[in-house]
Amino acid sequence: MQIFAADIGGTKIKYGISDEKGNFAWTKETDTESKKGGSYIIRKLETIIEDYPTINAISLSTAGQVNHKDGYIIYANENIPQYTGMRIKDILEKKFQVPVVVENDVNAAIIGEKNFGDAAKYDNFIFLTFGTGIGGGIVIDSQLYRGVNKVAGEFGHIITHPNGLSCSCGNSGCYERYASTTALLKEAQKVNSQCTNGEKLFEEINNGDRELLGILDNWCQEVVVGLINVVHIFNPEAIVIGGGIMEQKLAVRKVSEKVKELVMPSFANVKIIKSSLGNKAGLYGVISLQEL
Ligand SMILES: [Zn+2]
Repeated sequence: MQIFAADIGGTKIKYGISDEKGNFAWTKETDTESKKGGSYIIRKLETIIEDYPTINAISLSTAGQVNHKDGYIIYANENIPQYTGMRIKDILEKKFQVPVVVENDVNAAIIGEKNFGDAAKYDNFIFLTFGTGIGGGIVIDSQLYRGVNKVAGEFGHIITHPNGLSCSCGNSGCYERYASTTALLKEAQKVNSQCTNGEKLFEEINNGDRELLGILDNWCQEVVVGLINVVHIFNPEAIVIGGGIMEQKLAVRKVSEKVKELVMPSFANVKIIKSSLGNKAGLYGVISLQEL
């Protein structure tokens, strides 16, 4: 079986061809050009898929809230204009005459971690990804918990600072305004304008910049506040954390130590581990959806 898999993110579309066991022949990526809107993105995807006429199925992961049963976008924010309501499954099944599955990118990443990553050994874990915002998902008894409206796991909008910074969701003081990568880099740039990405920040820290190390410590504290709430609510075996900054062992170690120190003793055996599949987790995840 040849599956065309793609992960449509706000900045990149990653795609590749795999068999049903997640053995990718190759993967590539291209710019999403998301500001051109939902219809443009779907046309772009169609043009890519047309180059592979022998595929048997299409598996997609995408930014936005997704109705995975019917394969359409429930809601997408201003990062991808005119994407809300896009009936991706219907459009692509009509055009290519193969089965199409569509899943939200964070859910796809969790399914990837569960089926192909280090999280495979856990039946109960929480996945959190720290990027532009903070996304997450919940696995209970080996099943993805979706919630009644299929949008569970909006960890970025738990409130950690009442009356704090205003957020795109309409509330104030949301977790992602303080603990996302965006929040970290914003603070870092106040000290060193070159810290526009995580790699540069850690390069400066490794070169001995104490002030930036202090900013990293403060940010880890913000991350920890959210994780403590999550651990106390779910009592998971593990929290799997992803996102570029969490590729850095230093960040994961600081967060892990602090969480274990601050949670109630009966929760302290929780493991904090980094995502083992990194930014490919979503691509792996959608492959296993095709088997269901
Ligand atoms: Zn919010």
